[in-house]
Amino acid sequence: METKRVAIIGAGVSGLAACKHLLERGCRPVVFEAGTVVGGVWARVPDSTALQTPRPMYQYSDFPWPDTVTEVFPDHRQVMSYLDAYARHFGVLDCVRFGRRVLGMEYHGVAEDDVAAWEEWGGNGQAFGCAGAGEWRLKVADAEGRIETHKADFVVLCIGRFSGVPNTPTFPPGEGPEAFDGQVIHSMDYAKMGTKKAREMIKGKRVTVVGYLKSAVDIIAAECAEVNGTDHPCTMVVRTKHWIIPDYFAWGVHISLLFLNRFAELLIHKPGEGFLLWLLATLLAPLRWLFSKFAESYYAIPMRKHGMVPDHSLFQALATCLIAIQPKGFYERLEEGSIVLKRSKTFSFCREGVVVEGEVSSSSLVESDVVIYATGFRGDLKIKDMFASEYFRSVAVGSACTTVPLYRECIHPKIPQLAVLGYSESIANLYTSEIRAKWLAHFMDGGFRMPSVAAMQKDVLEWEKCMKRYAGGRYFRRSCIGLLHIWYNDQLCRDMGCDPRRKKGFLEELSESMALLIMLTFTPTARKTTRPSEAALVI
Ligand SMILES: Cc1cc2nc3c(=O)[nH]c(=O)nc-3n(C[C@H](O)[C@H](O)[C@H](O)COP(=O)(O)OP(=O)(O)OC[C@H]3O[C@@H](n4cnc5c(N)ncnc54)[C@H](O)[C@@H]3O)c2cc1C
Repeated sequence: METKRVAIIGAGVSGLAACKHLLERGCRPVVFEAGTVVGGVWARVPDSTALQTPRPMYQYSDFPWPDTVTEVFPDHRQVMSYLDAYARHFGVLDCVRFGRRVLGMEYHGVAEDDVAAWEEWGGNGQAFGCAGAGEWRLKVADAEGRIETHKADFVVLCIGRFSGVPNTPTFPPGEGPEAFDGQVIHSMDYAKMGTKKAREMIKGKRVTVVGYLKSAVDIIAAECAEVNGTDHPCTMVVRTKHWIIPDYFAWGVHISLLFLNRFAELLIHKPGEGFLLWLLATLLAPLRWLFSKFAESYYAIPMRKHGMVPDHSLFQALATCLIAIQPKGFYERLEEGSIVLKRSKTFSFCREGVVVEGEVSSSSLVESDVVIYATGFRGDLKIKDMFASEYFRSVAVGSACTTVPLYRECIHPKIPQLAVLGYSESIANLYTSEIRAKWLAHFMDGGFRMPSVAAMQKDVLEWEKCMKRYAGGRYFRRSCIGLLHIWYNDQLCRDMGCDPRRKKGFLEELSESMALLIMLTFTPTARKTTRPSEAALVI
């Protein structure tokens, strides 16, 4: 691997892990980072953003959080410092070229028709393809706009999915932002402004936020409502009600005991399962329903008062990674009236603000000065846009009715010498990126081969079927492995030739869960003794 030219694009959680694991195997990758710091998305979130995943689950297995950080949910500055320390400690920082944006890339050396016809991934099932014939050429722009070409034998795309290409609503002519006298921005631009400027922009203004997930509740609840109070209540336009929960305990039971352990995975149909597992999942399905209802009955109590109980189950929310932790004081702000919720399936603009279609019937005007879209991102388009050739663009992200086709959620069966880390989500993304980075480095170092293209495609389809089954019509393209993390983890372990069983006894293995780990980790004595590797391996 020493002689191989490897390019990693992005220096967030995924890019840092990929670089660290390749360095360990003697490879010296170049990391192109468009920004000026490591940390990715954490460098550009609203000021009030904190982790939603408990700290022990957002920790590299060989790099514990410092003892000075004791919060269960560290804030984004603490996450940034932690990631920066990781990059320094493992020499990753020396590999990063900041202020270098990769504009696009092309595959050279093998004709596209040949690539399309390959039955083995990359021609031979190995990382660097057939006799080194193919290479990627990356167009890289520096901060001054100068463009140079960089050649690579392998590219690891770690460009993230919650930044870059905003997902913005579309409108019939005359009903979009052009009809509005005020300002319309995306949460991405709001976060980019920095705290001081962002607060100045919303101060004393009538702010409407469109959306009801993490960025929306952070901006509106924690920032707009704090800045403007009840004088200028902030309005949230909510199309889909989501499970925005205060913490992970329902009636005192950690929800990982219900959903995130080996036993809980027995209640779910899994990709590639045999007859016995199929039978178990079928017979135990009512238990899954019961667990979900149990947790919902607790979390729904404050939501019911405001008519905000989601139409979908908590189980489905976890299956799609569509769950968020409330910022502090969210319901208090609703009670005092500094936040107003407007449920609406559709909305449009007029000169004075936003017209929402009420759930009951009549439309109503929400007078606004500033409208902030907290409507998410198009991570799939970001991947597609990296490719110059029509062929790769046409296959890269599948279609609206498929998932983004990535084998082991990392490798596209039809795109050689390239991996994607960080597109598919979980409940603890840092952990997921780390295990993928380990797996990828192992593969690139010759530790195992890819199966045939047909076998990879079959596996991708099995996962897609499973995601469609539990995610409902709209959300399967999120590629969330949240509820099958252990099954997924085991597959990666087996590829690497590691024993996926991590506990001594059968029952221990079956019941071990994040909750246990969290309880252990947060008792003062255990905090000192719990090894970081245990924290990462337990889910
Ligand atoms: C508000 C918010 C809260 C979140 N909270 C949690 C949480 O609690 N728990 C959790 O598990 N996950 C959370 N996430 C998800 C989070 O995205 C992941 O945890 C993780 O940080 C993703 O890391 P990444 O490296 O894959 O992507 P990113 O962090 O997005 O990093 C991608 C990097 O690539 C760079 N880049 C992109 N395109 C190019 C290009 N063309 N050329 C060069 N560089 C490029 C970007 O500048 C960026 O630095 C949250 C996300 C958001 C937005």
